[in-house]
Amino acid sequence: MTDTTLLRPDAWQQDGPDRVRLLATRCGRCKTLTFPPAPSCPACWERDQLTIESLPKHGALHSFTIVHTPGTGITAPYAVGLVDYEEGVRVCGRLRGGAHLSVGMPMETIPGSIREGENPLSGWMFQAVTKSPEPL
Ligand SMILES: [Zn+2]
Repeated sequence: MTDTTLLRPDAWQQDGPDRVRLLATRCGRCKTLTFPPAPSCPACWERDQLTIESLPKHGALHSFTIVHTPGTGITAPYAVGLVDYEEGVRVCGRLRGGAHLSVGMPMETIPGSIREGENPLSGWMFQAVTKSPEPL
């Protein structure tokens, strides 16, 4: 399975070597927040009253798994997880520090290399707030 949100340039923005922001659309009619940004609100189908908002830097780890069979250009094993934000949005992403992850722990959004080699891909990753980063 490929997470195509990683390939969407409108879903994230790198603000520096250590900082990345995830972007979402806020519906002006029903206030639903949608990640990745969408051309219409999935709750009420509003198309005109949509604004772009940044998600907060921190969320909570909802679940995760360790991947042992990677795609081309990706080194395994690595961790992938779902991070929940207080605003009601859940985001999938790579995780750093897979050996010390636990459900519910606070996570922060960081920039990271998703794939290396001939066709490199950069995007966002998550790492535990309370643990020092470690390679997996
Ligand atoms: Zn709406």
